[in-house]
Amino acid sequence: MNWKPQLAGMKAYQPGKSVEEVKQQYGLESIVKLASNENPFGSSPKVAEFLKGFALNPAVYPDGYAAGLRTALAAATGVGERQVLLGSGSDEIIVMIARALLGPDTNTVMASPTFSQYRHNAIIEGAELREVPLIDGAHDLDGMLEAIDQHTAAVWICSPNNPTGVLTSPAAVRSFIGQVPADVLVVLDEAYFEYVTDPSYQNPIELLQEFPNLLVLRTFSKAYGLAGFRVGYALGQEEVIARLDPLRPPFNVTSISQGAAISALSDQAFIEECRELNRKGLKQYEEFADKRGLHYFKSSGNFILMETGRDSDEMFQELMKRGFIVRSGNALGALGYIRITVGTEQQNRQLLDVLDEVMA
Ligand SMILES: *Cc1c(COP(=O)(O)O)cnc(C)c1O
Repeated sequence: MNWKPQLAGMKAYQPGKSVEEVKQQYGLESIVKLASNENPFGSSPKVAEFLKGFALNPAVYPDGYAAGLRTALAAATGVGERQVLLGSGSDEIIVMIARALLGPDTNTVMASPTFSQYRHNAIIEGAELREVPLIDGAHDLDGMLEAIDQHTAAVWICSPNNPTGVLTSPAAVRSFIGQVPADVLVVLDEAYFEYVTDPSYQNPIELLQEFPNLLVLRTFSKAYGLAGFRVGYALGQEEVIARLDPLRPPFNVTSISQGAAISALSDQAFIEECRELNRKGLKQYEEFADKRGLHYFKSSGNFILMETGRDSDEMFQELMKRGFIVRSGNALGALGYIRITVGTEQQNRQLLDVLDEVMA
């Protein structure tokens, strides 16, 4: 068959190891998975309530316009209903953006390392990648500006950045967009913004008025604890959303997922509580690393990228044998580091004890 040449050698996304897989392999009774930045506290009790009462006929297609969720998101974020694009996870929105803008005659600018799906989808569309190395875990916005030329179609900013957790300040984002040509889409992926406690952080929604080429990506998979339901969304000016909407597969967010997301969104007290617990959890890791002189990046997300003084894959294996799944930095472009999702206080303590044991 005549596959696109760029598909040669491409691999599917490698998810973190599954709990069941590891339990069997090592004969362990319990496993703590701190690898995929899922919420260790689950989701709001309002979601469980909704699920108990869910009674829609499964033979009927979902609401393709997702009116209820759209209205709730518009109200919560202060945009109009037609400024919202829903995806089966924000992953699907990344696919739509790549499909809409990227092709063999274009290039796309992003940081390195950053979230892998920008690169992955750009390759599928045959676009040239312009990857600009992070500086101390942060986006090199000046370097990214320099990489933009007349063939650049999209620029990606992940803030807080996965895998370093470093926040790009809103002032820097603003100044950056101000210098990007108006016909280049700037995608600001805020998958972890609910966790940010940095006082300099401001919601970028007001920037949407000023910059028609800005698109903000968010998700219910991380702080809202709904990764299994696959709901993500983009916010932008109506014209941009209208351009992307034809690329959205029909009925891409299921009925039950729409309802679960509405319930989750209605419980902001839960999100605040998770933000606070996460902040304390991050501190456990920072204190541990500080005491031992291990380098880490100052994270604004619900994960931390930490040096361990060992080969990343080796450390990953040692932790797994002892019942903890983390992410090896090798797979994330961060040699010598591991990325740990912040768990409950007890999970963090247990993992840090085991880390000490392995490092001794
Ligand atoms: C997890 C993640 C996503 C994708 O989340 P979905 O589950 O597809 O909504 C997008 N961007 C970043 C930076 C992520 O870490």
